[in-house]
Amino acid sequence: MVEESTLEGAVSIVTGGGGDIGTGIAAELAAAGSDVVIADVDVLETEYNQQASTDVGGIERTREVVDRVENEGQRAHVVECDVTDAEQVEAMVEEVVDEFGRIDVVANNAGVITVAPVEEMAEAEWESIVDVNAKGVFLVARAAIPHLRDSHGTIVNTASIAGEIGAGGLAHYCASKHAVLGFTKSLALELAPEVTVNAVCPGIVETPMWEDVLTPSLGESYGETIERAIPMGRDQDLEDMGRAVVFLAQNRNITGESVVVDGGILQNVI
Ligand code: NAD
Repeated sequence: MVEESTLEGAVSIVTGGGGDIGTGIAAELAAAGSDVVIADVDVLETEYNQQASTDVGGIERTREVVDRVENEGQRAHVVECDVTDAEQVEAMVEEVVDEFGRIDVVANNAGVITVAPVEEMAEAEWESIVDVNAKGVFLVARAAIPHLRDSHGTIVNTASIAGEIGAGGLAHYCASKHAVLGFTKSLALELAPEVTVNAVCPGIVETPMWEDVLTPSLGESYGETIERAIPMGRDQDLEDMGRAVVFLAQNRNITGESVVVDGGILQNVI
């Protein structure tokens, strides 16, 4: 990291950077002074992509995130990369180092969701979720580690409140996000003191994950879910997530931790 309290001059990679939360993370990293590499796929060619949230990415959303980064006066660079493919991940990291000469921040944010009870879940559906959400985090971290050791950089993984609790119909998603938190804690120990490794756990953010997948499965409107579940009375927004990532990226004495940004959902048990 260039300086402890600033990301001025830093180079950040945001996987799933063309998505909603990814855009929020990219914009806040840029506002903090970092150039940003957006690594994303447009459409995952799986049997499940009609339900998964990956079919809504695309060039328009990538254009939006590039504009947000450039409007902050920072350089944006887009790399097509499927985080489940080790070769593509390694090529992406190589391209970033060729273009920018360094990597300071890796925001492992790419993620997908479907809803299915375990009894009806095909093996391929399990794999399609766990591969992106958990294996992708491992592959991107592994490829970036040598460069992060050089820069004394940081990894911030996007987990979820589903990494802390269970939810019917989301066993594969919850398992993948629990895995992200276990990976975060373990990798933090492996990489200290050069590199910090933390996670953010978003609560409810109105993105295609909710619009296309979760709300239709719940039998209530999105507004009703917010009112029922969130003590702070509003959903979380993209800036909430981006600011949490920047906070963790800038703090050199927090590692192996997760910051839950959920407006009190996890406290709301009674
Ligand atoms: P989103 O669908 O808007 O963004 C996800 C992005 O990941 C998309 O741009 C998609 O193209 C990309 N992606 C999917 N598969 C990929 C792959 N194999 N390789 C590279 N990129 C891939 O969804 P979002 O809500 O912005 O989700 C971002 C992250 O936040 C995810 O990890 C998700 O699990 C997590 N999250 C979201 C919520 C929420 O309420 N929306 C809550 C908790 C956690």
